Amino acid sequence: MLDPFGPEARRLVKDEFGGITELLMIIPSYVGIDAALERVSWIKSGEIPKDILELEGIRDLLTFYALLGALAFSPYGLEREVVREANLRIYHRRILQKGTLVGVSTPLEAVPGGEIPERDRTILERTHHTELSPDERRKLRLGYRIHLSKFLELWEGSLKEVYVRNGYAYLTEEGAIELWKRSFERNFDRAVNLLYEIRDELPDYYLRLYEKLGEIAREHYKERLERMGSAKAQPLRFDLFPPCVKIALGGVPSGLRNYAITVLLTSFLSYARLCPNPPRRDVRIKDCVSDLGVVEREILPVIIEAGNRCSPPLFEDQPHEVKNIWYHLGFGLTDSPTLEDSGNSTWYFPPNCSKIRANAPELCRPDRDCRNIKNPLTYYLRKLYLENRRKGEGEGGETDEGAKEGGEENG
Ligand code: SF4
Repeated sequence: MLDPFGPEARRLVKDEFGGITELLMIIPSYVGIDAALERVSWIKSGEIPKDILELEGIRDLLTFYALLGALAFSPYGLEREVVREANLRIYHRRILQKGTLVGVSTPLEAVPGGEIPERDRTILERTHHTELSPDERRKLRLGYRIHLSKFLELWEGSLKEVYVRNGYAYLTEEGAIELWKRSFERNFDRAVNLLYEIRDELPDYYLRLYEKLGEIAREHYKERLERMGSAKAQPLRFDLFPPCVKIALGGVPSGLRNYAITVLLTSFLSYARLCPNPPRRDVRIKDCVSDLGVVEREILPVIIEAGNRCSPPLFEDQPHEVKNIWYHLGFGLTDSPTLEDSGNSTWYFPPNCSKIRANAPELCRPDRDCRNIKNPLTYYLRKLYLENRRKGEGEGGETDEGAKEGGEENG
């Protein structure tokens, strides 16, 4: 298969299995954990095994989606990086072997003969330069075209760099591959965000696979592990917060206060700081920290200050609301909890974007990074991941085929 997000793969997922969720439910019966791991375990050697390159059709799809399913437990950690990098390389190699990009998820077409005027070809492909080797000629050849509307969705450079004619952008093989990689990144992002939503429904198989992936990823990236980070608990980065959380932090009018502060901010800040990738829904704060210091020093003051910025100030108006904060953090209705109280109520998870839009539409002012995002927490984790990846690369970390693409703005 040339692309796990291409039309053939989409048809298989929909027609043969009934959708991604259904596909993930049956994968554990067909693909052993070790077989799924073979798709990435070669990464350190850099040599893609022949049998992985030759995987075809449903088998190829099942092993790829097994790995995607595992990423539901941490869509923006090191595990994602290893799955993304390995699979970009596998599919890239297959594309080169097949010698065509027609049929990948990017709607590229072979350029019909005679469509590009001869004089344009002469200039762009330097057809009269007899000193060029056949390989150089092949690289210059504008062999692909893509409708401009689709092209602009993926392209971030200037249009001056591209030959455009009759509503199409024309690309060399290299340009087409660049575009395909961007599209792969975008589809990958979309898929892991979708799967994050259903992680609680996934069989235990995926959690086990995720743990094994973590071992491979830590081994592979051990030199740049510190630079990359791994979506573990770390100090909050306010600059990377999503727009809705920034609005809540700035203080909101009375009708929005309780939702913005008690529901959104309390859940977002606590999970983002203490447990960005909860392994299960019923996780408690005491599963993530050994004392309440970080909650009292780094989370509660931010919530209280945001409440004070509301008009009228939330906690002056409703002092008992502090108890409600602790309640939403899972300590029951109290204003002086101990760690042991954690679990007395549910630790509320940040509401999904759709819920925020329904309950407090004024808070949702999406920016370009909100594309494909279904929960404010994943927005934050994605931004952290992209920043850490950039840092990892910028400070001399290993590069990989996907990272070179600067796919960070593809969400
Ligand atoms: S789309 Fe989601 S993350 Fe973005 S502002 Fe709206 S609610 Fe927040």
